[in-house]
Amino acid sequence: MDTTRAIIIRSETSGEADILITAYTEAFGKQNFVARGGRKMEAKLRPDLKPYSLVELSFVRGKNNFLLTGAKTIENFTNGAAAKDFFAASVISSIIDTFIVQPERDERLFLNILFSFRALANNSEKNSWVVVQRFFWDLLNLQGTFILSKKCRQCTNNFNYGASLTSDGELLCTTCSPDGIFNFDQEDLYAIGQILNSKSGEDMPGHVFEHLNSGLKTFLLKEKTYPAPNQQAVSWFLERVI
Ligand SMILES: [Zn+2]
Repeated sequence: MDTTRAIIIRSETSGEADILITAYTEAFGKQNFVARGGRKMEAKLRPDLKPYSLVELSFVRGKNNFLLTGAKTIENFTNGAAAKDFFAASVISSIIDTFIVQPERDERLFLNILFSFRALANNSEKNSWVVVQRFFWDLLNLQGTFILSKKCRQCTNNFNYGASLTSDGELLCTTCSPDGIFNFDQEDLYAIGQILNSKSGEDMPGHVFEHLNSGLKTFLLKEKTYPAPNQQAVSWFLERVI
């Protein structure tokens, strides 16, 4: 039997009394687990398999999946949370669910997810979207798929008119790359730099958040059809992360 700390990303019921969960674990990376054993087992485990909580999981390795034998809640991040924080937690979960496909263990990523959920729970941020933004850009940064720079790599000019992310993952000026997959204006670039370098969004003006919110939506999600991801952005991401 194995045990690990895990952050529950998704939890659903299957069949009569099986519970399927997706979790990012400390020891085994992103994994799917199944709880079998009928009503009794479901009643025993259900209270400790809530989405957006940190739990200690015990399990055995079955032929095709990890079979849960026990779960104990350590920290629940959405107890008493405002609706917007709950939504932010679901967006972070959606990013993890869609973009982290490798099961390999990554301690930094585990701590990153933990830090993000805790920040939502403690309401320590000016805007819960900052937490989502930081998680997203940190994730790209950790994977080396988005490197924030001050100058265009091709012509070495400053980004006076913003920058464009090419399908090759390069940040170029809008003259060198008129048809990138995403355009950042100067304020976007500034805000991403701030978000990646600081722990708090307290000193940032509100309209910068608005900029980045629309940026993340454009990049990740189709407007108003959440959680369907923008396919072009997803394939751009997957090509680089996998
Ligand atoms: Zn250029």
